[in-house]
Amino acid sequence: MRLTADPGLCQGHQECLAEAPELFAFDDDSYQVVVRITEPSEEQLSAARAAVKYCPAFALSLED
Ligand code: SF4
Repeated sequence: MRLTADPGLCQGHQECLAEAPELFAFDDDSYQVVVRITEPSEEQLSAARAAVKYCPAFALSLED
């Protein structure tokens, strides 16, 4: 599964960092999320799904 963030949609809420801090970083200059791990492991998938689900801007996707 591939985890991506759409910079055109990210509004810097940082809910994703709360859900999956190991998968994301935050760029204070652009005020946008950075995906640190684009291919989460099996163990990281539930956190990745939660981040996608709770992003208020629908900026994250997890696809095959
Ligand atoms: S929760 Fe969504 S909008 Fe907020 S920083 Fe993360 S990706 Fe961006």
